[in-house]
Amino acid sequence: MKSVTAVTKFSGSSFQQHQTGLPAREATGSIGESFRLDFWQFPSYHGHPVDVQVPFAYLQAVKAFLEFQRIKYTVLIQDVQEMVDEETREMELTRRSERNRNSFNFAAYHPLESIYTAMDDIAAQYPQLVSKIQIGESYEKRPLNVLKFSTGGRNRPAIWIDAGIHAREWVTQATALWTANKIACDYGHDPGLTSVLNTMDIFLLPVANPDGYVFSHTKNRMWRKTRSKVPGSSCVGVDPNRNWDAGFGGPGASKNPCSDSYHGPSPNSEVEVRSIVDFVKNHGNIKAFISIHSYSQLMMYPYGYKCSNPKDYKELDEVVKMATGALTSLYGTQYKVGPICSVIYQASGGSIDWSYDYGIKYSFAFELRDTGRHGFLLPADQIIPTAEETWLALKTTMEYVRDHPY
Ligand SMILES: [Zn+2]
Repeated sequence: MKSVTAVTKFSGSSFQQHQTGLPAREATGSIGESFRLDFWQFPSYHGHPVDVQVPFAYLQAVKAFLEFQRIKYTVLIQDVQEMVDEETREMELTRRSERNRNSFNFAAYHPLESIYTAMDDIAAQYPQLVSKIQIGESYEKRPLNVLKFSTGGRNRPAIWIDAGIHAREWVTQATALWTANKIACDYGHDPGLTSVLNTMDIFLLPVANPDGYVFSHTKNRMWRKTRSKVPGSSCVGVDPNRNWDAGFGGPGASKNPCSDSYHGPSPNSEVEVRSIVDFVKNHGNIKAFISIHSYSQLMMYPYGYKCSNPKDYKELDEVVKMATGALTSLYGTQYKVGPICSVIYQASGGSIDWSYDYGIKYSFAFELRDTGRHGFLLPADQIIPTAEETWLALKTTMEYVRDHPY
């Protein structure tokens, strides 16, 4: 075990715990708090392993606890800080080579300003197709920038895609940016995409939680939530994917402001969530709503806040099977599919439950690579393969939506 430097903000190891004897997330609360665990994967009902990051100081205690409870575990990452440092070094190298060549490297992680500049560049390069719209401002007053892909028409039926609502899921913002460039480059060349854009618009929000994203670059790589101040608490931030008006405050969300899955004081309390809700409502013609997360390799449909199937269950199940079939065809990456509640766990206040109940039939959530080997610290050399395979699933979904107007 390597020693960890004193300046470290979050240090320790990431475990994958098998055969958990902790069926409900609530049951992990006290253990989580006493050992200051960061759940990378929350406990589920279905015997999935639980991934937890353990502070270095609690490592021996947690190991002893697991062994005492006869809970099997494997160590995934010996030293999280070491991987974070490596990632930071790589980003610095990227920054230098981009400056020398005056080009953007889609195979690297970038700070928010670089992503926003790259979005502007795509819009400038393809003005006939791409425009930038600001749908709001984050809590810390950063713009919420959406790229609109449109070949004309007024208020055409549209597809909404957001990424990065959870700050630390860096492969999602990177995938969204690659996807923006892909759409811009392939229009007029790829017949499937071209026909989608001849009848529909696409709205893409690559960084749904810019404050959290900046914080994950500058202060705490494992930050998940927004950065809003919580009245009456010293803890900061709300889980923006527990904050939607869909079963708000129900199972799988915490009322503790210090929890990583804190649902917030009220539905839509987070301006980042409210801005999307307002945009979707004002638009009035969104036909598909897709939220991109990482990690776990899943494509899911509602519901999360309850465990009954949505009325379009059969059709949605068919779509995710087709989409992930296309995804797997590229590199063999295996995805699981199904309703959120049965694939992971019951979780209330999620975005795609809201969009589905609002009337957007084609509501889907992705969890991109990997399944825990690197977790949130997915090496940058996997960004493009991840984006490429995800694109096949997105395109399949968009073509399906195009062919099934409602
Ligand atoms: Zn997420």
